Amino acid sequence: MKSVRRASPLLKQLRTSPIHSRRHNPVVIRISPQQCRRQSSQTQQKATTSATSEPHQPSPEGAKEGATPAPRIKYTTDSYPKLQRDSRFKELTEEHVRYFRDLLGSDNAVVEGVTQDNPDLDGYNADWMRKFRGKSKLVLLPNSTEQVSKVMKYCNDNMLAVVPQGGNTGLVGGSVPVFDEIVLSLSRMNSVRSFDEISGIFVCDAGMILEQADNYLRERGYLFPLDLGAKGSCHVGGNVATNAGGLRLLRYGSLHGSVLGVEAVLPDGTIVDDLSKLRKNNTGYDIKQLFIGGEGTLGVITGVSILAPQECTAVNVAYFGLSSFENVQRAFREAKKHLGEILSAFELMDGGSQNMFSSVSGTSLPLEGKHPFYVLIETRGSNSDHDAEKVEAFLEHVMSSEIVSDGVMAQDGAQQAELWRCREGITETLGHHGGVYKYDLSIPITQLYDLVVEMKQRMQDKGLLGEGKPVVDVVGYGHMGDGNLHLNIATRGWDKEVEKVLEPFVYEWVGERQGSISAEHGLGLSKKDYVGYSKSATMIKLMKQLKDLYDPNGIMNPYKYI
Ligand SMILES: Cc1cc2nc3c(=O)[nH]c(=O)nc-3n(C[C@H](O)[C@H](O)[C@H](O)COP(=O)(O)OP(=O)(O)OC[C@H]3O[C@@H](n4cnc5c(N)ncnc54)[C@H](O)[C@@H]3O)c2cc1C
Repeated sequence: MKSVRRASPLLKQLRTSPIHSRRHNPVVIRISPQQCRRQSSQTQQKATTSATSEPHQPSPEGAKEGATPAPRIKYTTDSYPKLQRDSRFKELTEEHVRYFRDLLGSDNAVVEGVTQDNPDLDGYNADWMRKFRGKSKLVLLPNSTEQVSKVMKYCNDNMLAVVPQGGNTGLVGGSVPVFDEIVLSLSRMNSVRSFDEISGIFVCDAGMILEQADNYLRERGYLFPLDLGAKGSCHVGGNVATNAGGLRLLRYGSLHGSVLGVEAVLPDGTIVDDLSKLRKNNTGYDIKQLFIGGEGTLGVITGVSILAPQECTAVNVAYFGLSSFENVQRAFREAKKHLGEILSAFELMDGGSQNMFSSVSGTSLPLEGKHPFYVLIETRGSNSDHDAEKVEAFLEHVMSSEIVSDGVMAQDGAQQAELWRCREGITETLGHHGGVYKYDLSIPITQLYDLVVEMKQRMQDKGLLGEGKPVVDVVGYGHMGDGNLHLNIATRGWDKEVEKVLEPFVYEWVGERQGSISAEHGLGLSKKDYVGYSKSATMIKLMKQLKDLYDPNGIMNPYKYI
């Protein structure tokens, strides 16, 4: 790695260290319903705030033989006692199960606990964070859009509630049932439908795993315009249903732009055939947009058409230390000015988040000395000489104008991965001391870090922060280029006093600044009651009207979103 210190010759060789992850395939967490199931056996105390709690991640290999079993997950109905089952929905009978067996025609397409106990249901009922747990007795795994259509029609006619499920990596409790809703898993619908090597337009089934879609495209010189840590498990359909943001949004934009078409099934079984492969199509309302970020409340996405960008051959990654948030903003401004079209990531990490990453993971940070702020930038282009020249000119500028205090630039893919690990590894380490309250917020960029400072002060004033106190640290990091802050309060366990300081303060603070209480994770169950902080009464009314229009019986993913 090359250092970019001002005092020394501008670019010089720096130490390297072993690399365990890689940027092109970021930290990939694979989970399966079976792994979740194996881990649930004791009762666990949980936080009661709406904050996304720190996931107790299953290891990629699943629970090890002889290991202490992870605590059992509380039922959502116990954590949310005010939720009542909608009495309009029918309870499942053996007759219903018979119908689905005959329809789907194969044993592995129906997982049921109506006629017998079935532990295989557990993984579909529990979410990735191990915070939500439903009581479904039926999982259906159709293998075609026609089957999904017949399932939905039958459910609608018989008032059976349904939760569409992709890779079950969602972070707001949207992907699992609350009561006994049927889980409709798309995992058997996982094929590529078409790819046009000239235009880059890719069409696949909704149940295709994101990493597989990305690998397919990479083999053909393209890439999927979305990248996130759960790529080894999440589905393309789930990504579209949540309008996932991830690590490439700065460069390739939101799925609202790159998704060209959607095939979906409405609750009454109607197949919405809007799988357009056109970049331009101004022929009426853009209905597909309702399914992008609709979180399975309007229909089931069964197919997706998306514009894949060309893979970039020239990638650069640099990591800086900065003395103030003001300098972080200046660096961002300069990065856009100098690197414009090749800038693909500008990630912010405060000193607290980097210290926690370093101490918990035992990894030395790439820079000597401590800095209040760190930034990771990535560029992706097609001409390495040209790009390197631009990046070096940018570095020279930010160093000589004292915007950046210190920095390193990776010399190869392995070093790039090492730098990315400092950003991507934060999430895993924050829960180390017992718990972490997490908020995923959009905030005007100039005020992005103020909330972290204020929250820290509030915890200090209440005597909750420090050695022997409930709060270990209040840290901020995130996709600065997208105005997306991840506010995290690392604690020694779940604590009512801490929760009182957090909410509703966080939501009021964000609401007053016209920010968003959920930048990329969605509403699901956990943010549903707080949508009023980010959406006006008129907008909420319009959303409810749409829900009533598309799903008059309310069978699609009930109790959530709206
Ligand atoms: C380690 C990790 C890192 C993450 N990083 C990011 C990140 O950087 N950015 C980000 O935005 N998110 C991130 N997430 C959250 C999550 O991965 C995304 O929300 C992802 O898009 C969910 O996809 P999924 O297939 O797992 O959907 P699920 O979790 O199965 O479902 C999510 C929601 O979509 C609905 N749904 C799923 N499939 C369909 C379908 N076919 N039709 C209709 N509705 C459907 C479900 O009902 C549910 O409401 C991360 C999660 C983890 C665990």
